[in-house]
Amino acid sequence: MTAESATIAEPHVMTTYGRLPIALVRGRGSRVWDSTGREYLDGLGGIAVNTLGHAHPKFVAALQEQVATLIHCSNYYHIPGQEQLAARLVELSGLTNAFFCSTGLEANEAALKLARKFGHDKGIERPEVIVFEKAFHGRSIATLSATGNPKVQAGFGPLVEGFVRVPFNDIEAIRAAVESNPNITAIFLETIQGEGGIHAARWDYLRAVRELCDQHDLLLMLDEVQCGIGRTGKWFAHQWADIKPDVMPLAKGLGSGVPIGAVVCGPRAAHIFKPGNHGTTFGGNPLSMRAGIETLRIMEEEGLLENAAAVGAHLKAALERELAGVAGVAEIRGAGLMLGIELDRPCGVVLTRALEAGLLLSVTADSVVRLVPPLTLSVAEADEIVALLVPVIKTFLAESAAA
Ligand SMILES: *Cc1c(COP(=O)(O)O)cnc(C)c1O
Repeated sequence: MTAESATIAEPHVMTTYGRLPIALVRGRGSRVWDSTGREYLDGLGGIAVNTLGHAHPKFVAALQEQVATLIHCSNYYHIPGQEQLAARLVELSGLTNAFFCSTGLEANEAALKLARKFGHDKGIERPEVIVFEKAFHGRSIATLSATGNPKVQAGFGPLVEGFVRVPFNDIEAIRAAVESNPNITAIFLETIQGEGGIHAARWDYLRAVRELCDQHDLLLMLDEVQCGIGRTGKWFAHQWADIKPDVMPLAKGLGSGVPIGAVVCGPRAAHIFKPGNHGTTFGGNPLSMRAGIETLRIMEEEGLLENAAAVGAHLKAALERELAGVAGVAEIRGAGLMLGIELDRPCGVVLTRALEAGLLLSVTADSVVRLVPPLTLSVAEADEIVALLVPVIKTFLAESAAA
């Protein structure tokens, strides 16, 4: 860290983040530069947001054109981009309709409202939703209540009621909750838990959850805000299990950095909202729709699903090889370009050490090093991540005591 970058002051910004001591000012592909001109390899992609990497030329040209044409107009009017993006999401997911908003938590709020209205429409006055340990769904009052991390909830009670929490990947726990509680209307989970430490739902478990939802007339709501949009090598992570949800919140990677969220619904959920039941000022505006349309178009044109799968497999294999037998490495897991390296001890400092080495990443769930880079990452860049990260992890483990 240079002396200059270590003294960045923000006296007027609320202190909601523990910031690293650099300011990023420019990016290109999988690389970014800070205000002192130092270059970093981006293993974080703005937390699974920068699908196309930074300053992708085709994306930049499309957005420049859109900014100069129409940015926003409100949902009082038809917005052609909404139908275009909804049709594409429907085509890719096999679902039927989409609602647009601007963030992940908003997409999840819409999903939770759908679950409640679905219950009320069938005469359940106090609908409840099954949620999971280690889940993360956002930081609004309802979505932090659905979240399974006490740190996210601390200080913000009373929590929203109507959630029943069960362990993840345990079908009997869900079955017991459903069979003992006639107020359950939906099951709400991340296909791959992101903030909770990169824990994937087993595919057989997802199929069993789908079956249970069908048997009991419940909505299966899969939060794919982080794991969707090609990150695992399929358009949506649940497609590995060959099932369809009824409700699928999306956000992060959908706009390659332009704020956008969506809830994509199948036939059982697509017509629950009637005019006036839900809405948002910014959601679905022409700029964000263009960002979504171009992201999906460029992903397809450049084969980024295949790239995420292939480069992700290469990266995971290289990490497994280089960290094999290293004491303190508990597990390397994930799919495509959504990978977690779990250590046997809290490892927040790995974030700073990696930054010093020139690599952006994050540490989540205290002890999991998370890599969610742009889906444009090349094999050579993956090798560079390994070359930068492995020594940082080995040095950290050698210096620190096991928990
Ligand atoms: C990031 C995330 C959210 C919240 O998205 P915001 O855009 O920060 O509101 C919700 N669910 C999952 C799975 C996420 O990873």
